[in-house]
Amino acid sequence: MMTADDIWAPLRAELDRWQAAGKTARFWLRDDDAIEPTPALEQLLKVTADANVPLTLAVIPASTGEALAARLADEPHVLVALHGWSHTNHAGPDEKKQELGAHRAPEIVLGELRDGFAILQRLFGSRLISMLVPPWNRINGALIAKLPALGLETLSVYGVAKAGSPIRLLNTHVDIMNWHGIRGGRPHEELVADVVKELRARFDDDAEPIGILTHHLVHDETAWAFLAHLLAETSAHPAVAWKSAASLV
Ligand SMILES: [Zn+2]
Repeated sequence: MMTADDIWAPLRAELDRWQAAGKTARFWLRDDDAIEPTPALEQLLKVTADANVPLTLAVIPASTGEALAARLADEPHVLVALHGWSHTNHAGPDEKKQELGAHRAPEIVLGELRDGFAILQRLFGSRLISMLVPPWNRINGALIAKLPALGLETLSVYGVAKAGSPIRLLNTHVDIMNWHGIRGGRPHEELVADVVKELRARFDDDAEPIGILTHHLVHDETAWAFLAHLLAETSAHPAVAWKSAASLV
């Protein structure tokens, strides 16, 4: 059986290689679907604060309120981004889920985003960054060029940033959850391999920071253990810099 030490050894080795080359790997952390304070949110705030790692919460504006704003007021390591409007799926039963797809008129979708951004500005003030995180990481491509006119200067989806985007991208690359079958955290060996793969892809050309994606409301013990271990391994390593989203855009 593999011990935790064996499982994390490939990451340590890759980071040591970065250190030997005088390089620093940039990471950032995005967590989606926050609405209100919950025990799971408390755990997320604690694990990130303990590791001194900045956190960006993608908040659903139609469902959030003063309680979350009050809770985050004392957590200077947390920023807020716009997570769609109400996280409602408008796609058909045979399609991938989308709130911001082409299923409705662009004016309707953009109007919701404008309203949502105004709500978050009022609640979170200077903690809000001008970044849109589309629910399910999907958005109608025709809308993207219109986001800056709403004050949304950055888009954050999943995967390698596409070249030639009409807007600045700050993407995520490693999703710690398994969304198929039994929902839960993915196996640690597999996630370590994914992080190492992202590091190797950036060793010669660090084009974009590595975005780690979490969903605190649905984490099981496997997911929490991975996040805590990842933050502990990396935040202590001299070749890693955990960045706030604000410093990356
Ligand atoms: Zn979401």
